[in-house]
Amino acid sequence: MSQDAKHPGEPWGHPRPWVDRTGGPTLEQLDMGRWHDDGLCRTGPADWWLSDEPADTIRGIEVCQDCPVRRLCLASALVFGDQWTIYGGTTPPQRRALTRRLRRGDTLGTVLADTLNDTNAHTDETLRPSHARTDVGEVA
Ligand code: SF4
Repeated sequence: MSQDAKHPGEPWGHPRPWVDRTGGPTLEQLDMGRWHDDGLCRTGPADWWLSDEPADTIRGIEVCQDCPVRRLCLASALVFGDQWTIYGGTTPPQRRALTRRLRRGDTLGTVLADTLNDTNAHTDETLRPSHARTDVGEVA
């Protein structure tokens, strides 16, 4: 999937200043232009990452498990606060939970390690059709 498909005309925005990026990638490494071309979603049907259909979402998540830039992808979504679609094999509800951990002070490195070691973390709840474009505000 192209970068434009996920972010039509939009830049990444600003990094969340309250994220402790200890143990995670640097902002320079998170520059999407440096890694996104290596993402496996570049060659798959965009619906697997963008659709509201759970069957599509599951296929996208499965592809993410083997993606060589999965860690950077997930880290980018957490640092820049992308709240919709699949990133690094995680759904928006999963990332909201991870965001709560970051808000509590867990480091980015720890959250990434825990998440990427738990490749089957998605649940039926997180795969509901409404997950993909749920736009819930930031957790205080
Ligand atoms: S982890 Fe998934 S969404 Fe991210 S670049 Fe790789 S295939 Fe695409």
